[in-house]
Amino acid sequence: MTKKVLKCRFCNEFVDKDTVALNKKIINRNQPKDRMVCITCMAETLECTVEDLRDKIEEYKQEGCTLFG
Ligand SMILES: [Zn+2]
Repeated sequence: MTKKVLKCRFCNEFVDKDTVALNKKIINRNQPKDRMVCITCMAETLECTVEDLRDKIEEYKQEGCTLFG
């Protein structure tokens, strides 16, 4: 079985599955896998903090968003 590791398109940082879900939720539901951004770059783009985004992930999980799991 091959495990696809996604990398940030800006800084080449590893993008975990929660961050992938956040890409889809916040940026684009149909975000292609090669256009993902890591949580740090996403925070910069959105002018918020990584902590804010981690809170968002928890929020969406608690809402039962199907992208997260
Ligand atoms: Zn990045």
